[in-house]
Amino acid sequence: MAGILYLVGTPIGNLGDISLRCREVLEEADFIAAEDTRVTLKLLNHLDLHKPLVSYYAHNSRGSGDRILERIRAGETCALVTDAGMPAISDPGEDLVRLCAEAGVEVRAVPGPCAAVTALALSGLPTQRFTFEGFLSVTRKSRTEHLESLRREKRTMIFYEAPHKLVSTLEDLAAYFGEDRPVALCRELTKLHEEVVRTVLGEALARYREEQPRGEFVLVVAGAPEESGEPDEAAALERVRALRGEGASLRDAVRQAAQETGMNKNALYKLATQSGDD
Ligand code: SAM
Repeated sequence: MAGILYLVGTPIGNLGDISLRCREVLEEADFIAAEDTRVTLKLLNHLDLHKPLVSYYAHNSRGSGDRILERIRAGETCALVTDAGMPAISDPGEDLVRLCAEAGVEVRAVPGPCAAVTALALSGLPTQRFTFEGFLSVTRKSRTEHLESLRREKRTMIFYEAPHKLVSTLEDLAAYFGEDRPVALCRELTKLHEEVVRTVLGEALARYREEQPRGEFVLVVAGAPEESGEPDEAAALERVRALRGEGASLRDAVRQAAQETGMNKNALYKLATQSGDD
């Protein structure tokens, strides 16, 4: 009979967050698949557990995933852990879950801390509807596409970021969402220097241009405010001009600006030509 794949959530900082079930499943698994075996070894030493470890990280996930699946199919039980938090959330695991599901192998979760949900709960921003955006790409094209797709997002948005990229990410968020958009910067959650700064993007940017960001960050950004009724014609026209400045034809600029602002395309076209933007 096939074994089971367990997705085991581990602490995002404070080892006191290890659950009884996390310990139990790690102890009973035949082997543990870890993102970085050195990090996991520290956790196992803390728990006084000695288990066989295999490596499962982003760049070896394909070959390693196949080998893990084979072992589970042969009857072994595997516990998958990452360096911190829930596997498969901006971490390796997604592919392995899919692989196991497709092969009819049972997958169970041992839920543990997740930085995104922890930050959302602490943010003080609306939690009823939210979107998880993970890390913004460092490639300009996909980064722009990602931000563009969020321009009119009304739900609270959650981003992960590394300290050395924080300022450039805040710059882009402020450019797309405006400097006065509320944001909660949640830093070093559950650790000694845990801090939650509830401010607006412009102020966050000013602070971290002065002060070197340290530690791990989750940025929780408020969604776009409800529109006050009619689409903003001046903003739509401004957007047409910006797109024209980037080299778009009038037709393409109008189509995109209308889509982004909710303004009627024909009305915007007329407005643009009347304003001499053709
Ligand atoms: N799977 C993890 C989870 O469930 O949260 C996320 C892993 S992702 C590779 C790492 C990112 O999570 C960090 O760059 C940071 O944005 C966020 N993060 C992890 N631990 C954190 C903490 N203690 N405080 C703030 N952010 C944290």
